Amino acid sequence: MAVIVNEEKCIGCGACVDRCPFDAIEMINGKAVIGEACRICGACIKVCPVEAIYKEEEKKKGVNIDDYKGVWVFAEQREGNLLNIALELLGEGRKIADALGVELSAVLLGNKVDNLADKLIKYGADKVIYAEHELLGVYTTDAYAKVICELINERKPEILLIGATNIGRDLGPRISARIHTGLTADCTKLDVDLENRRLMQTRPAFGGNLMATIITPNHRPQMATVRPGVMEKAEYDESRKGIVDKFVPELTESDIKAKVVETVKGGKAEVKLEEAKIIVSGGRGLGNKEGFKLIEELAKKLGAVVGASRATVDAGWIDHAHQVGQTGKTVRPDLYIACGISGAIQHLAGMKESKCIVAINKDKDAPIFQVADYGIVGDLYEIIPEIIKALDSGDELLEVASAEE
Ligand SMILES: Cc1cc2nc3c(=O)[nH]c(=O)nc-3n(C[C@H](O)[C@H](O)[C@H](O)COP(=O)(O)OP(=O)(O)OC[C@H]3O[C@@H](n4cnc5c(N)ncnc54)[C@H](O)[C@@H]3O)c2cc1C
Repeated sequence: MAVIVNEEKCIGCGACVDRCPFDAIEMINGKAVIGEACRICGACIKVCPVEAIYKEEEKKKGVNIDDYKGVWVFAEQREGNLLNIALELLGEGRKIADALGVELSAVLLGNKVDNLADKLIKYGADKVIYAEHELLGVYTTDAYAKVICELINERKPEILLIGATNIGRDLGPRISARIHTGLTADCTKLDVDLENRRLMQTRPAFGGNLMATIITPNHRPQMATVRPGVMEKAEYDESRKGIVDKFVPELTESDIKAKVVETVKGGKAEVKLEEAKIIVSGGRGLGNKEGFKLIEELAKKLGAVVGASRATVDAGWIDHAHQVGQTGKTVRPDLYIACGISGAIQHLAGMKESKCIVAINKDKDAPIFQVADYGIVGDLYEIIPEIIKALDSGDELLEVASAEE
């Protein structure tokens, strides 16, 4: 527990009970007792007239780092389907665990998702810690945080990686606050310093103007959330064997303060840029919002997803969900077609790992050509219709490209 009551000092006035916004404090035998619902907000500390309440971390300095071993990844699943980020974390977690010479465990929470455990092993986990409970069937912050915090306290992993998804961004900070460890959010690169077993957690800082590498020297586990699409997915190996450590955690309805009443899926189709094999992206060179109709037409012909530069998002031509780059999504498709995009460093940061990059730009000196495998210099409003025509007729696209070069 993070907030502590000094029983000797407590005068039982009840001021903290009235002040607590989470109803987490009870008076027992005339003394304040902090319960599980505490969110460490500190309101009770401020209101206590005799300074009998304090935060535990003020007393506690670091932990015995040597007690912590092993790398864990949170295997996020929704409705019984593993998210790609879980496989990407397994890929990265495997490298880190091998470098440190420790076990890689996937932490799977859910209800009747046993079939996923085997998949996680085939994708590189040595062990799957599978907490099964009907109250874990749908994600709730309270239930998931409780189970994972208990596991951490009991088994002491040295590293815990979580996907920077909506769920991961909610869960990660809750766990790190309860466990009293650091969390580096939204990492784009991870490394280990083998000398002292430190996780080097790199993420954009100061609005993306520089990359900061952050360490957690005195606390464990070292926690990071990792952006989807940045790390390479682990490879599937049918022959891999591992251990499934299944258990039923102690959970009751009263552990969950916020109930999920209904799940309403967004009206807008989800933009799955990170999983796309082909992306056609539009930039300011489109000239206006209408230009995206041409991008959509080409994308449809290729079975691609539409991406965008930040300039077009800022101009209100397209939703932010389509933005590729440092402050958008990181992608690595087989084919990335950049249309009217100059190739600013912040855009390249999100797409330069694409297997094949095709750039269409009327400025032959545009920086995008420095990373492009194929460059077409010309007006996108002439070139894209030609490509669409060629796709319709089945002509070789390369002929179009060379004609325009
Ligand atoms: C902290 C920070 C974070 C950022 N994050 C991102 C990010 O996540 N993603 C991102 O994209 N940007 C990001 N940016 C912005 C980035 O610096 C650029 O401003 C942006 O990428 C430019 O978008 P653009 O290439 O579409 O526009 P421009 O740079 O204006 O380029 C337009 C290009 O279109 C070409 N063109 C014009 N007309 C035509 C035509 N008819 N046919 C063919 N080509 C044509 C031009 O030659 C030009 O090269 C960030 C900036 C900062 C400071």
